[in-house]
Amino acid sequence: MRVLLTGGAGYIGSHTALALLQAGREVVVLDNLCNSSAESLARVARIAGRAPVFVEGDVRDRDVLGSLFAEHLVDAVLHFAGLKSVGESLAQPLRYHDNNVQGSQVLLEAMAQASVFNFVFSSSATVYGEQAQMPVSEACSVGHAPNPYGRSKLMVEDMLRELPASDPRWRIAILRSFNPAGAHESGLIGEDPNGIPSNLLPYVAQVAIGKLPELAVFGGDYPTTDGTSVRDYIHVLDLAEGHLRALDALQTRTGTHVWNLGTGRGCSVLDMVRAFEAASGRTVPYRIAPRRFGDMATCYADPTKAERELGWRARRGLPDMTRDAWRWQQMNPNGYR
Ligand code: NAD
Ligand code: UDP
Repeated sequence: MRVLLTGGAGYIGSHTALALLQAGREVVVLDNLCNSSAESLARVARIAGRAPVFVEGDVRDRDVLGSLFAEHLVDAVLHFAGLKSVGESLAQPLRYHDNNVQGSQVLLEAMAQASVFNFVFSSSATVYGEQAQMPVSEACSVGHAPNPYGRSKLMVEDMLRELPASDPRWRIAILRSFNPAGAHESGLIGEDPNGIPSNLLPYVAQVAIGKLPELAVFGGDYPTTDGTSVRDYIHVLDLAEGHLRALDALQTRTGTHVWNLGTGRGCSVLDMVRAFEAASGRTVPYRIAPRRFGDMATCYADPTKAERELGWRARRGLPDMTRDAWRWQQMNPNGYR
């Protein structure tokens, strides 16, 4: 089976490319490198012992997609390409809609033209927005996404729910990933944010290694056990395996299916700080700062549908995520540069 990974040079994409290669699949990566480096794919090749095919280009470029599908006989597409910063999406909503929504539309059109109908979409827990009940299951209503990033994911989900009615050959998985964390255990691939990280774990890692002075904990007065916000952090290798299981599940399913990829366990910001201190043996200085605009108090998954239908569950815990993130940080203090 040959799989096209859009955004395959990025954080989740590179770990998934590796998992696919290790499972014996052929991998083609399409990435415009706007938030990544081709070095990630060189490292993937080093670990796997063989390289994915790399096409540098944009998912919104119909010509690039046309020649890619003509040249490589692709069986399925995993779609990771997109912009993912909540803050940036509030400042530049049109850029987010153009890249995430328009990019997905152009890709789906090119797929239909090439008669490729197996599609796995990397959606996000952000689509759930603030919910009264935790954990969130796939049956919870969506539509209250609190920012343009989340709304761009919802628009693509809507598009994907409509497609099978137009053509029964479509087999679509929507994967709502919770908070990816950690890195491959080799320390060769990991999360390489541009500039100052906006996500918690890379920020904590850079504080622990001394690149940043302290962590600002956004909010100490949330209605949670210690007052700091709670998320469902999931090891990026577990996420990658979830994507492979979804791809397999599409062999026997038509239509559009939604699965949460989370651990089902909530972890507060201070839980994460303590786990990182234990893994690194370093102190992580922090101060309680005002809440960040658009943040929710608590969000964690009900992962039972994925467990039941995909036979998948997250196997790694907080000690694995923090240990692997710390190894990656130490071995690559400047990321892939
Ligand atoms: P990432 O930025 O590391 O990877 C995205 C990749 O897509 C990058 O390599 C980037 O260069 C590429 N890209 C962006 N726009 C493109 C375009 N128009 N054409 C071609 N390539 C393009 O991000 P990630 O954390 O690996 O996220 C991957 C996907 O998972 C995204 O769709 C994101 O929304 C989703 N997701 C991420 C998180 C998270 O917190 N990291 C959580 C849930 C879902
Ligand atoms: N967070 C924080 N300080 C930071 C970055 C994040 O306190 O410098 C908190 C943030 O408020 C949220 C959690 O850590 O509650 C996870 O944030 P992240 O941006 O990693 O993921 P999100 O769940 O917002 O997508």
